[in-house]
Amino acid sequence: MGGRELDFVKEAFASNFIAPVGPQLSRFEREFAELTGFAHCLAVSGGTAALHLGLRLLGVGPGDVVVASTLTFIGSVSPATFLGADLHFVDCDRATWNMDPALLAEAVDSIRASGRRVGAVVPTDLYGQCANYDALRAVCEPRGIPLLIDAAESVGASYKGRHAGRGGDAAVYSFNGNKIITTSGGGMLASDDEAFIREARRLSQQARDDAPHYQHSTIGYNYRMSNVVAAIGLGQLPLLDSFVKRRREIFSWYVEAFADIPTISFMPEADYGRANRWLTVMLLDKNASATPEEVRLALEAENIESRPVWKPMHLQPVFEGVPVTGGAVAEDLFNRGLCLPSGSGMSEDDLERVSAVVRDMVR
Ligand SMILES: *Cc1c(COP(=O)(O)O)cnc(C)c1O
Repeated sequence: MGGRELDFVKEAFASNFIAPVGPQLSRFEREFAELTGFAHCLAVSGGTAALHLGLRLLGVGPGDVVVASTLTFIGSVSPATFLGADLHFVDCDRATWNMDPALLAEAVDSIRASGRRVGAVVPTDLYGQCANYDALRAVCEPRGIPLLIDAAESVGASYKGRHAGRGGDAAVYSFNGNKIITTSGGGMLASDDEAFIREARRLSQQARDDAPHYQHSTIGYNYRMSNVVAAIGLGQLPLLDSFVKRRREIFSWYVEAFADIPTISFMPEADYGRANRWLTVMLLDKNASATPEEVRLALEAENIESRPVWKPMHLQPVFEGVPVTGGAVAEDLFNRGLCLPSGSGMSEDDLERVSAVVRDMVR
């Protein structure tokens, strides 16, 4: 927090809209649509819920295959299973750490050759860097496959001058507590298709028919964002630019601090866009004087939290047997990567403390 969040929460209380409806919620959706450039936005309880709604409305159902990034967070891929679809993972490329368009083409063609329908493709914008939307769309569009962008981590990033997420049929954002802006928990589904968002809104509120009595012709969910939570989001939105600026400064600070250590490198920035540097991710060479896990434990001993890179989905016990196209790049990044403390509120002293521990381990 750092702006007028509490003022907006007080306004929500004063208006007595302590419900999943109210002026703060409508305003948050409107302002988020302005930020991203999407015509329509629906605020929901989380990014995972937004993905669930998005996939369902793109027509994904039992027996379909949903193709997703392997290097991502579980919330990106679990919604496909809620709908009875099967998953197929695709590796990332080294230049962007995001879904490799050539491997995506290989994956969808092999799935279709086996007689199965690809219900949707869900690329993740990893650690706040946009996937190569145009290249992914060039695979999906001619084959009639919907593209749902998981921009949960990339609020405030851009792709060819457009806001993150604008590159497919719809996009999903997250305001979970760990993301670059937060509502404590929450998410957004965004699209230019008014009917799509209208139907998502209906499904997010238990799919009530248009009748004064409680009548239902289909099964929905209780996924709506609370008006109080949206008020926090209203206070966060004006801070986004300064948070992105600070996260990028933190990234540059680490790069400079370790410039003399040849066994340390960082997640590259693709030339097609501007990452929000949600997290600064460091890579250690195989011959570095410490492993990422040793560095993590050394930081932990100083009460400093760092995290391994996402464990690839194709290595998860719960997805044993799920097919993957490629996978070696994601495995390598998982083995050699470490997410450094990157919070927008970090001070110069905090950064010095972190880098001193890292320097002590990696020389
Ligand atoms: C955080 C995250 C999600 C899930 O968002 P929630 O709001 O936590 O449900 C999905 N995908 C990715 C890539 C994420 O980082």
